Amino acid sequence: MTQFSPEVLTRAADLIRAAESVAVVGHVRSDADAVGSVSAMLLSLRRLGKQAVGVVGQPMAFSANLLSIPAAREIELADTLPEVDLVITVDCGSIDRTGLLSREIAEKWEQTLVIDHHASNPGFGIVNLLIPGAESTTTVIRELLRELDVELDRDIAHCLYAGLVTDTGSFRWGRPAMHELAAELMRTGIDSRQIGVDLIDSTSLVDLQMIGRVLAGVETERIGALTAAVLVAERDVIAGHSDAAVESLVDFVRALEGTDAGVVFKEMAPGFWAVSLRSSVINVSRVAVALGGGGHVPAAGYTAQGSIESVRADLTAALARMGVPDPA
Ligand code: 5GP
Ligand code: MN
Repeated sequence: MTQFSPEVLTRAADLIRAAESVAVVGHVRSDADAVGSVSAMLLSLRRLGKQAVGVVGQPMAFSANLLSIPAAREIELADTLPEVDLVITVDCGSIDRTGLLSREIAEKWEQTLVIDHHASNPGFGIVNLLIPGAESTTTVIRELLRELDVELDRDIAHCLYAGLVTDTGSFRWGRPAMHELAAELMRTGIDSRQIGVDLIDSTSLVDLQMIGRVLAGVETERIGALTAAVLVAERDVIAGHSDAAVESLVDFVRALEGTDAGVVFKEMAPGFWAVSLRSSVINVSRVAVALGGGGHVPAAGYTAQGSIESVRADLTAALARMGVPDPA
């Protein structure tokens, strides 16, 4: 893992200053940290007089709640990048998280700045601004904006707060510095209560009913030395429901009494599973990396194909290989 050195901030800022046109790329199945990071960079780059476009490499539209983030509606869904001097990926823990753009970004790695906070990020750009201990990618961006002398306005602060409030589980974890940043952002006049409602609390009747159906099937499973709480969200149960509702499922099994880990299998398309892992006892990032994904020590994920039985068996085997609990 690349260690953060303050000198990389200078190199990242130099790359940005030298560019006239920039494409900012967020990860597929975008969350509020990804959309907030792309949007914050778009607004800031324009303030610096750059041409800037935001792109996510997937055909699926964003969850409606993410459109409350300033500039989110401008982010294009595309399978190619525009002609630009510089590509900036944000919140993408690995190159495959750029989806349909991954091959092009691999070719253009010498024109790519990677900004991220995932512990598993290998660094796939010419400059890699990685702060693994950072609560969100938007907190990393806050440091970069300081380096670039971009002053925070209300819209940029809204974008940064969107990533901060969601990636810290509504400020349930993180360092004291995240509260200091929250205070700084709030002083610009953002409506933090409304942002919380838009991004976290608002749900629809049908989504709540879906959540109830999936939660009714919760099981605990002994896997080697571990006890895991497991949710299986099959295609016919989640089809047509908002990403936000599907992604919220994992929060119910994050810390179920008597368990060491929470697992959610989400069937995004027939036989195609996105798997979420959470634990405060083992390093789930290692488990996710072993299965082709990535993430943070306490929260990680990966994708897999096949029947639920085979996907579950592969996870069980990986957890067994990882051995006894490896403290986070
Ligand atoms: P979630 O379970 O909420 O989808 O993701 C938890 C964490 O793991 C997030 O930080 C997310 O970026 C990361 N993650 C989830 N799925 C994948 C994946 O397929 N590949 C990689 N590299 N990281 C993932
Ligand atoms: Mn993030």
